[in-house]
Order: sequence, then C-alpha cells, then structure tokens
Amino acid sequence: MPDVIAGYLNGGYSVTIEADGTKTRKTIDPSVPPVHPEHMDLKITDWCDAGCCWCHEGSTRRGKHGSIDATLDLLSDLPAGVEIAIGGGDPLSHPRFPDLARGLRSLGDERQPSWPAPSAKLADGPSRREGVARP
Ligand code: SF4
Repeated sequence: MPDVIAGYLNGGYSVTIEADGTKTRKTIDPSVPPVHPEHMDLKITDWCDAGCCWCHEGSTRRGKHGSIDATLDLLSDLPAGVEIAIGGGDPLSHPRFPDLARGLRSLGDERQPSWPAPSAKLADGPSRREGVARP
C-alpha cells in the first residue's frame, strides 16, 4: 500500500504523491484542462555573489530581493502537493527566506519546497538556514 502524502484534483485529472516521491496522474476527463501548475520555479532574489561566468540569471551583488508576502499570496490558492522549487540568485541570501519556508509549510504540511544554493553558502553556518530545518 503506497504511503500517499498529498493528492489533488487538477481540472480533468487527479495527482497523488507518495512519500518516496512517486507522482501518479490519473485522467478523469481529458476534455477538461488543468487549472493550476504542478510545479513552480520561484526566483525570489536576483542577488548573488558567486559570480559564475555561466550564470543564466544575470544575478549579481546588485540584484534585488523579491517580496515574500507577494510570493506567499500568489501560492496560497495552490493545493498541498504542488512542487515549489525556490531559486535565485542565491535564495539563502534573502533576509526573509525563513519566513518563506515557514509560510510554505503552513500552506500544506506535505508541501516540500526545494531550493538550489551554491555549496559555499551552505557552509556559512546554520544562521542562514534558521527556521528551515524540520523539527
Ligand atoms: S550561483 Fe547561480 S545565481 Fe549565482 S552567479 Fe552562479 S549560476 Fe548565477
């Protein structure tokens, strides 16, 4: 028996997500289009000090941070189980990153946000990740 951690209807099909990450879609009515995305990439900041020559985001130390309140408001109508990938820039540089992580968790216990980050940033210590780790 699969350990289903989230499920939702999306227009003419249903989605279930299992604890091991397996996603299953079942068509109910192929004539009904989806009403929301299954996955979103969020760029919450354009700030980054890594200076990678291959950067496709154009993110620099002059980059600006996005609004966390506006982001959470945008996501508030999505059901738990929609995948949220948080990026930038350097998403851990955003001073309100913990607020975003807590807000996403409050929108759905099963929602599992993920974020890429330069490995050097992860070595900066726990203060930048405060409030993000699961209890
Ligand atoms: S770490 Fe990512 S966002 Fe930052 S400069 Fe490099 S590619 Fe761009």
